[in-house]
Amino acid sequence: MRTEVRIWMMNFRIPGGPLTILGPSGCGSDVAVFDEVADTTTITLDETDERVHRLLSVLEERGITAWWESRYDCFTDDELEAARLILMAAHSILDGIFAGPRVGTRYDMSEACKLCGAGARQTSAMVVDGESLHLLEAKRTIHTCYNDILVDEKLAGALAESGATGISFRGVFAAFEKRGHFQLPWRQLCATHTLPRMSPRSTGIQPYKSCSCGRSSFLTPSKFPTRLVYRAADVADSRDVNVTWEWFGEVKFNGDVYDSVLPYPMFLVTPKIWRIFQGAGVTGFDWIPIQVVDE
Ligand SMILES: [Zn+2]
Repeated sequence: MRTEVRIWMMNFRIPGGPLTILGPSGCGSDVAVFDEVADTTTITLDETDERVHRLLSVLEERGITAWWESRYDCFTDDELEAARLILMAAHSILDGIFAGPRVGTRYDMSEACKLCGAGARQTSAMVVDGESLHLLEAKRTIHTCYNDILVDEKLAGALAESGATGISFRGVFAAFEKRGHFQLPWRQLCATHTLPRMSPRSTGIQPYKSCSCGRSSFLTPSKFPTRLVYRAADVADSRDVNVTWEWFGEVKFNGDVYDSVLPYPMFLVTPKIWRIFQGAGVTGFDWIPIQVVDE
């Protein structure tokens, strides 16, 4: 495993242009990518590269604030193969297709937290926004804005035939205003097993607005690599597909589930599931092995 640092700058907010930053910090075209359309520069460096410190120092010295930093762990295929479980994390949850309670998906809230909605149990097929179907084009897997995982029928078949444990499927419908719901050739991949709480040794996870249930409002800020840790005893009973006990993301819940923004659990899968997604050429997700500790 190695950790990469990505610094992203808005060119027009840098007096003199990005080269006045890149030159003094020793960052050339081997690590910097210019996007002329977006007018941005992205620099990717290994965390141990001394240019990280130089670059951050130059930005600070010059008082430039229009830049953002993310840090993430990169794994080899061998490391992924050897993992007990792997976090399947969408690159950007905001790029997901709009779906869920505000589009018509039904939920049972009888065992959910009354304050944040964590623990909402889906009771219908997944309904997605009919105006967003272009997002499905040329894809075999997509996540919704609530981290539901949708797969095309062929991939659903491959997952089902693999004998993987802990999975079930639901239908996927598109909702069109005034024209009702139409079934799509996609399936929602659902986990039947919820893991116990993760270890407090996990890092890169922060509650942004704690709920008294302790279960929701977790974020994975991009400035820190997401590193999930589980006790060995807590993953002894895991399946090929699992969801976390913790629920992530923004929460806006006032008691009316069909007018709410619900938090969502994250998916943890075995290398067997990772291989099936890899074989299908699926992109758009980070695959991050969990760490397992004795206590
Ligand atoms: Zn709660």
